[in-house]
Amino acid sequence: MKVLVLGSGAREHALAHALERDPVVEKVYAAPGAAMMSQVAELVRVDMLYPAEVAELAKKLEVDLVVVGPEAPLVAGVSDAVREAGIPCFGPSKGAAQIEGSKAFAKEVMAAAGVPTAQSRLCADMAEVEAALDEFGAPYVVKENGLASGKGVIVTEDRAAAIAHAEKCQEVLVEEHMSGPEISLFAICDGKTAVPMQAAQDFKRAQDGDKGPNTGGMGAYTPVPWAPANLEQETCEKVIQPVLDELAKRGTPFVGLLYAGLMLTPKGIKVVEFNARFGDPETQPILLQLESPLAQVLLAAAKGELEEFGPLKFAPGFAVGVVVASEGYPENPALGTRIFEGQFRSGNIKLFHGGTGRDDLGNLIVTGGRIFTVTGRGHTLGFARNMVYAALKAFHMDKSFWRHDIADRAIKGEIK
Ligand code: ATP
Repeated sequence: MKVLVLGSGAREHALAHALERDPVVEKVYAAPGAAMMSQVAELVRVDMLYPAEVAELAKKLEVDLVVVGPEAPLVAGVSDAVREAGIPCFGPSKGAAQIEGSKAFAKEVMAAAGVPTAQSRLCADMAEVEAALDEFGAPYVVKENGLASGKGVIVTEDRAAAIAHAEKCQEVLVEEHMSGPEISLFAICDGKTAVPMQAAQDFKRAQDGDKGPNTGGMGAYTPVPWAPANLEQETCEKVIQPVLDELAKRGTPFVGLLYAGLMLTPKGIKVVEFNARFGDPETQPILLQLESPLAQVLLAAAKGELEEFGPLKFAPGFAVGVVVASEGYPENPALGTRIFEGQFRSGNIKLFHGGTGRDDLGNLIVTGGRIFTVTGRGHTLGFARNMVYAALKAFHMDKSFWRHDIADRAIKGEIK
């Protein structure tokens, strides 16, 4: 089987790595990929945002499956074009990807499907914004309706700051505030049914102690020891399946990875957001734990045959991923810094590259804000965490930083 992975981040590196491990896979292509992905995939050039080009490439390479990593090609309609070319694609259609691309659409689907989430108002003008803020009260939650790479949301006690944020949004969604720990659950979907992966927790803020600006994600661990025992099953029943049924009813069945960002509120689980693709960095530790053959699972999903597969198998124990970021990330990451290779010698550590490339002399250099995810496994969460941080202690690189507290509160039993 031949597979084409679209994307070039650490998530796609982890996907390519897991696909390549599947015994039926003879070849993995990555487009556009990144230098270090050539360890597991052949790199091919393409502009991911042009659906016809991607479909053409998939035909030329004669792949059996296309796996779409990031959200932008999904929203551009890449999956539709690949399917129209007769090639199975793991990634939702443009219509179904709206579950991520438009928060108002996600809210409407959830309301129709009876899925628990915060109440919200899509506001046409500032008068409506102010009315919604007063209706829900503080703390205020104001969101950009469309995609904003994690920068579109403000949660604040300060009404003036909430209004100032709303003024900067193209389309404003005001939400009721929810409280409780957050958890990510990925479900592999074939349009009709879903199989859940292990739950994970990610860390969005740049600095230790959840300080600093929001980022694309600074680390994650899986599974989540403090999660209720039936979380996966409950989320499938109350969230994933009703959304799949609703989207199928609307003529836009969801084939791909449905990522439910959940909050465990005192009143039960509620959805914070959906993503229509694998999350970065949670994917890196989750796929390290996965024992089921990924390519076969994703192909079954792409063909609407997931029921034949049954539950996914994961290795016992835990995995932790810590993102090494470039100084200045997320606002203004330093680029071009040289990375000395071969510093991670432990065979138990896996490095998934996100923002690296080669300069003209072939040196490995920084090309993006999130440089790589250092990922490790262990029989306990503490062991997995210590292994990753021991590897990072021995790692030296100019102009880089990482968080030092990924998984710490879970290990100390501080989150319940
Ligand atoms: P973007 O659209 O900019 O990429 P995003 O999709 O990450 O952002 P959300 O996941 O909706 O945006 O929100 C980001 C964070 O804000 C959440 O992880 C959560 O911590 C907080 N948040 C969002 N909605 C609420 C809410 N209703 N109550 C409390 N906190 C919230």
